[in-house]
Amino acid sequence: MRRSIATVSLSGSLQEKLIAAAAARFDGVEIFENDLLFFDGNAREARLMAEQLGLKITLFQPFRDFEAVPVDVFRRNLDRAERKFDLMGELDAPMMLVCSNISPLSVDDDELAAAQLHDLAERAAARGIKIAYEALAWGAHVRTYGHVWKIVQKAGHSHLGVALDSFHTLALNDDPKGIAEIPGDKIFFMQLADAPRLNMDVLSWSRHFRCFPGQGDFDVAGFTAQAIAAGYSGPLSLEIFNDEFRAASPARMAKDGMRSLLYLEEQIRGIQTEKARAPGAPKGPWVDLIDPPPQPNLKGLAFLEFAVDPSTEAELGQWIEGLGFRRHGRHKTKDVTLYRQGSLSIVLNAEAESFAHSYYLFHGVSVCAVGLWADDPEALLRRAEVFGAQRFEERVGPDEAPMAGIRSPDGSLVYVVGENFNPARDFTRDLATPASETSISTLEVDHVGQALPGDQFDTWLLYYRSIFGLQPAETLVLPDPYGLVKSRALTNSSRTIRFPLSFSESNRTVVARSLTTFSGAGVNQVAFATDDIFGAARQLQDRGLKILPIPENYYDDLAARLGLDDNFISQLRAINVLYDRDASGGEFFHVYTQSFQERFFFEIVQRTGGYDQYGAANAPVRMAAQARMARPSSVD
Ligand code: MG
Repeated sequence: MRRSIATVSLSGSLQEKLIAAAAARFDGVEIFENDLLFFDGNAREARLMAEQLGLKITLFQPFRDFEAVPVDVFRRNLDRAERKFDLMGELDAPMMLVCSNISPLSVDDDELAAAQLHDLAERAAARGIKIAYEALAWGAHVRTYGHVWKIVQKAGHSHLGVALDSFHTLALNDDPKGIAEIPGDKIFFMQLADAPRLNMDVLSWSRHFRCFPGQGDFDVAGFTAQAIAAGYSGPLSLEIFNDEFRAASPARMAKDGMRSLLYLEEQIRGIQTEKARAPGAPKGPWVDLIDPPPQPNLKGLAFLEFAVDPSTEAELGQWIEGLGFRRHGRHKTKDVTLYRQGSLSIVLNAEAESFAHSYYLFHGVSVCAVGLWADDPEALLRRAEVFGAQRFEERVGPDEAPMAGIRSPDGSLVYVVGENFNPARDFTRDLATPASETSISTLEVDHVGQALPGDQFDTWLLYYRSIFGLQPAETLVLPDPYGLVKSRALTNSSRTIRFPLSFSESNRTVVARSLTTFSGAGVNQVAFATDDIFGAARQLQDRGLKILPIPENYYDDLAARLGLDDNFISQLRAINVLYDRDASGGEFFHVYTQSFQERFFFEIVQRTGGYDQYGAANAPVRMAAQARMARPSSVD
């Protein structure tokens, strides 16, 4: 399908918007009139610029408050339209979007609306222009696509058709099934937007909270599939009004937009394939939808890689040994150390000529890569490329195993490895360390938490959702002593991968302070799972790891809140273990280390009875304790 984006969705000057759209490989753009007004050139020059970049102008918008008005207003409106048609001629824009009237001057009269739109279409036809009529969810009299279609039918003009906008339909909970009944050639244009479900007036919701399909809660794929079933084959065009998008880098937003459309196409293909299986299902109509390698089957985390420098390497190494890992050995050719515990591996990378070092320069000591076990690594790498992510391969020495990864939005890497991967392959065993040293019975990585700048959340959500097939849980709002933190976990269905994302608008919270100066985002939490939390917590203590002290009040409250017995409470209290329980009796035990240079911390968790959360009830206590431990100078 042709892919388009409205200029209003991106920040910057018209030139910056067009360059960003072209770089993200859009076929076309909807020109929003304001972008022309602020453009330092005329409409013809805007057209030439788009042409130079290989972009078609798919639509000119918006034209407001036109139909169902008294005759004197109607005449003025026609004059107004003629001037826009002149402009569209210069732009070489083939279609104008007319939004349903919101003016108190308009009347509830479909016959009049149809007659006036017919006249408009007649004038447009003379210029070779089409009119796409769109129902605004807050229109004075016309608010649904069904009503628009009724009026378009009454008007009966070849140059007048329906514009569909997923937001207006889905925000009103209107059923999109009727779209399939509209002849495909009378659906002139499709604008797509998603949004979080919010309880607010629909106008403000639309103007400030739209997001790309896949970033919100609407079934945009189901909506779009109806139009394609009807025979629509025009562009799929993103029209996003969002305060954060308008402030963010247009290049990043355009790239996200393209990723979102590709992900949407994959979902529509899935819906079509499902439908075609039904007995007696009609064949087609088929349009050209992308067909990427399927979503991966991820089996968990194979390893974590930290970027370090010689001064932090030793200290972090001690922490990792404190967590029960054993120093396994050094890399054959690189300044890299491997630590192991059971099937878990942690790599400290201090190699000067490496990806890790370049990451270190921007992020300081940090997790620069994670390794994921995947059923079919090559398929996942190709899938990532289809969705616009970069593939990464570092130089390898003779006889070393090559390893490919996917570049994440902050420049960190997700390496993808298959079941034959041996993390120790390129390492020389460190004979000084006894192999039999007892470990802490951590079984696997439970979750890896990332702190993000607030305006990057949607980018990461879409990245993990489209490429890795992770699905978001609900958004939690957690109080830090110095501001609110929002948190949302992304997981796969087998729960072998759990990535909670957190961000805060305040720059004084624990989450905000863990952000790095340059790109911001980064891992701020690594949680390991155990089947013996009390044993594990005791071992951490015995190994001298700095445990986060939990205040007495927490345990008093816990006892009262959950009706726990004194013995159990004193067991928890003795080793700073926090506790949570879900509605069906599943339990969660967890203990935190203090923060490493205020950048990240470790956690050991134990889940029982199918507990599927992250102890959100305890997060405020943890953040308050972390704030107390922070260097006084950083809490200004
Ligand atoms: Mg619209």
